[in-house]
Amino acid sequence: MRDRLFIDGKWVAPAKGGTFTVIDPATEAVVHQAPAGTGEDIDAAVAAARRAFDEGPWRKMSGRERAAVLRRVSDLILVRRQELARLEVIDNGKPLPEAVWDMEDTAGCFAFYAGLAEEMDDNPEEAIPLAEPRFSSKVVREPVGVAGAIIPWNYPLLMASWKVAPALAAGCTMVLKPSELTPLTALELGAIVAEAGLPAGVLNIVTGLGPDAGRPLSEHPGIDKLAFTGSVPTGAKIMAAAARDIKNVSLELGGKSPFVVFADSDIDKAVEWIMFGIFWNQGQVCSATSRVLVEESLYPALLERLVAESAKIRIGNGLEDGTLLGPLVSKGQYDKVLAAIERGKAEGATVAGGGRRPAGLNTGYFLEPTILTDMPETSAVWTEEIFGPVVCVKPFRDEAEAIRMANDSRFGLAAAVMSKDRARCERVAKAFRAGIVWINCSQPTFTEAPWGGYKQSGIGRELGRWGLSNYLEVKQITAFESDEPWGWYIKPA
Ligand code: NAD
Repeated sequence: MRDRLFIDGKWVAPAKGGTFTVIDPATEAVVHQAPAGTGEDIDAAVAAARRAFDEGPWRKMSGRERAAVLRRVSDLILVRRQELARLEVIDNGKPLPEAVWDMEDTAGCFAFYAGLAEEMDDNPEEAIPLAEPRFSSKVVREPVGVAGAIIPWNYPLLMASWKVAPALAAGCTMVLKPSELTPLTALELGAIVAEAGLPAGVLNIVTGLGPDAGRPLSEHPGIDKLAFTGSVPTGAKIMAAAARDIKNVSLELGGKSPFVVFADSDIDKAVEWIMFGIFWNQGQVCSATSRVLVEESLYPALLERLVAESAKIRIGNGLEDGTLLGPLVSKGQYDKVLAAIERGKAEGATVAGGGRRPAGLNTGYFLEPTILTDMPETSAVWTEEIFGPVVCVKPFRDEAEAIRMANDSRFGLAAAVMSKDRARCERVAKAFRAGIVWINCSQPTFTEAPWGGYKQSGIGRELGRWGLSNYLEVKQITAFESDEPWGWYIKPA
């Protein structure tokens, strides 16, 4: 576990010498004192990234040369995936097999953007046909400059890769600010990029608290592009900070995503995907389908089965074999989720399953998988993101009512629908006001496909070619190709 910041290719102590504690959420033990960066460290990191962008080799390299470094990063993550996954479990609490999956996804993300960097060499320019024959026009795409990335704690290294990999592929340089709840693997990424041969200053990693390190990064005049993933309230602050210098900003925020289950669904498959949609990663997933809408004729049987299957989920330390639900990430998050359940009860919700600390687990931020029913549509538990293993289930009468209830949200990140009638699924998929829609499943996420939300779930898209576009400026180059005089002021003789 590292106790230095990664700035300009070197490991440096934070300017003010501060630290913050890293707690294993399964044991509540302090496992590390991580370096607490502040404004001075952000200044140094931005200066290094600026030098690396303006004077360094990175953006002048061919896409293939950059891709070679990104592929080495990918390979090194794969080689170290077990060790990195264990660090992730200690930091975040998730079950080890989920963390190993995250590491493979992270490696895949670097490899994917290596491929897009190579493609940039093959298509350096795009000709733009013009209606005016005396001119030619083309478009070139150039790195946007120095990027700042601020990320959350739910997928610590994977969320870093969604920003670092496309930014580096595009030729940008970057300052990364990981979450103070999960700094361990992000710092390790510094060692990995150095070993992979990334030039100094191209990626700088400053751990620290949101107000002390995140805020100065978001307000820094030396940053050209800000990419943020986190909560809506922090996203609003980031956007306000970006507005001061009209920074290019992209936001991946929260959600309260619906899962509409029609009565013709196979009950086993429905229960499996409902559980995968909300209990994976302890429900700390921005796209979690936390509002389940079930057609009324299936509702009683499905609810009974969901409660029974959820009670069988093995809860424990993520490092123990067979654990399927680990602790929540922190005391703060645990208290927030418990308070949301209490508020739900006060608003009229029934706890159909879970809702308590599991018997025998007296230490750690553990919570049973929780199923709530009977809440009013106006209640906070139905409308607000909880970010824990808590699912709200409601019946619906018909397709029109399901679509109305699903879309009645200030969020629009994801949505899911299940039915044996594929035409109905397609119809409902198009009716959802959300950026990501799953049919007959919930949550599978692919690096190739765009990720992001409608409404208050964010601005812009990550992943796929959309993720690369986040870090590229579009420049048109237009030429006057005619030998004829223009003749506006100076008339031809
Ligand atoms: P958060 O908003 O509390 O923190 C996110 C990051 O912002 C952290 O690194 C934090 O240190 C930093 N930060 C806090 N205050 C800041 C400030 N004033 N200025 C600049 N930076 C600041 O969110 P979280 O609790 O870490 O993550 C959970 C949230 O993230 C949930 O709402 C979830 O839905 C969302 N999320 C969204 C996606 C997505 O892709 N849409 C993915 C993962 C998580």
